[in-house]
Amino acid sequence: MDQQKVWDAVVIGGGPAGLMAAGELAAAGHSVLLVEAKPSLGRKFLMAGKSGLNVTKDEPLAQLLTHYGDASDTLTPMISAFDAPAIQNWAQGLGQALFTGSTGRVFPEKMKASPLLRAWLAQLQTLGVTQRTRWRWTGWQGEDLRFDTPEGAQQIKTRSTVLALGGASWSRLGSDGAWSDILGAQGVSLAPFKPANAGLMVAWSSHMQAQFGQPVKGVQWQAGEVSSRGEAVISARGLEGGGIYTISAAVRDGAELRVDLLPDLTEAEVTHRLARPRGKASLANHLRRALKLGSGRTALLQEFGRPLPQDPPALAALIKALPVTHAGLRPMDEAISTAGGISWAELNADLMLEKRPGTFCAGEMLDWEAPTGGYLLTGCFATGRWAGQGAARYLATQ
Ligand SMILES: Cc1cc2nc3c(=O)[nH]c(=O)nc-3n(C[C@H](O)[C@H](O)[C@H](O)COP(=O)(O)OP(=O)(O)OC[C@H]3O[C@@H](n4cnc5c(N)ncnc54)[C@H](O)[C@@H]3O)c2cc1C
Repeated sequence: MDQQKVWDAVVIGGGPAGLMAAGELAAAGHSVLLVEAKPSLGRKFLMAGKSGLNVTKDEPLAQLLTHYGDASDTLTPMISAFDAPAIQNWAQGLGQALFTGSTGRVFPEKMKASPLLRAWLAQLQTLGVTQRTRWRWTGWQGEDLRFDTPEGAQQIKTRSTVLALGGASWSRLGSDGAWSDILGAQGVSLAPFKPANAGLMVAWSSHMQAQFGQPVKGVQWQAGEVSSRGEAVISARGLEGGGIYTISAAVRDGAELRVDLLPDLTEAEVTHRLARPRGKASLANHLRRALKLGSGRTALLQEFGRPLPQDPPALAALIKALPVTHAGLRPMDEAISTAGGISWAELNADLMLEKRPGTFCAGEMLDWEAPTGGYLLTGCFATGRWAGQGAARYLATQ
């Protein structure tokens, strides 16, 4: 590649945020070089497709925004400009038929990411975006960008840059958080990475082996103020799945975790059912008949509640708020996403680094977190688009 060429924009990171930024810049007529460290683009996006690719959540904007916690106000203009209906229009514009599940989660009908990614990359090619893979950004050399490439070190000149390097989980897919050293060395302040949407480690007793792989449904997980009716799966390592991911940030931040095994019954109703004559039935059989808990929920009750109180009111109270004894969250690299990243104070309203004019940032590398449910990709699409537009505006002023 001609090392003397001056690009209008170099976008680094080929995930959803980077692709969005590259598209915005190219559509505005700029020359764009899109660079990715891995041998192919969008690896984490493709992994997200393995669970169906939940692209957004079809709910009123004000409700959607509540899922971004402390970053909600900052993200409001970005997500308002590319909200759930806009994301659906965009995906449909790329030829992807979508459907909305009963909970409002929006998925491609094909329930995978590869057709959408293929169509997206083809569109970027049509817009004239030049792509380089196996190019790892290693920092700046004066004003130039420095890369390690299969052809050796390269220095690239550019008038603007978008960094969309991802968070710090699933490093084998490229999101290794190593960029934090480069930005840290520039004096950019970073909130420490933390696991978000992570499974729980549980040191099960040997009784639980028969339950490994079994789903736990129809419960309500409660950690501090946060609750979730989502499913979990009992695995050899602990508890995983959407229901656990939703409460994982609260658990990570110190909240005690309890599970209501019968959220549709009041404690008085559970007590009433337990007080029915038991005859000669064992407690396990009585629970099965009176409450229809099923094997997964009964196993959790035995595991976390033993020795079970015989007295109906005490047992009902336990069933309605069973303490979950765990050993913390799974390691960060296994988490669906990470909290932490570039502090908002380092960025202007266009997502440009105050300390490096002309360098914009987007996606999971910014300091926000959200539960699963389409909120993560929504945040990445919206900030990627915003940073791309910000970079295009910056170029227009130069
Ligand atoms: C199993 C799983 C399922 C998921 N399911 C969903 C879902 O259904 N819905 C949802 O909303 N979200 C989901 N997510 C989360 C979602 O995939 C991420 O939030 C999203 O991919 C982040 O986008 P991003 O562009 O910010 O970063 P990434 O997608 O992580 O992309 C960053 C890119 O930057 C590259 N890079 C990093 N450093 C360098 C460097 N120095 N030089 C060059 N390139 C570099 C990386 O290789 C990577 O390709 C899921 C995640 C996982 C792991």
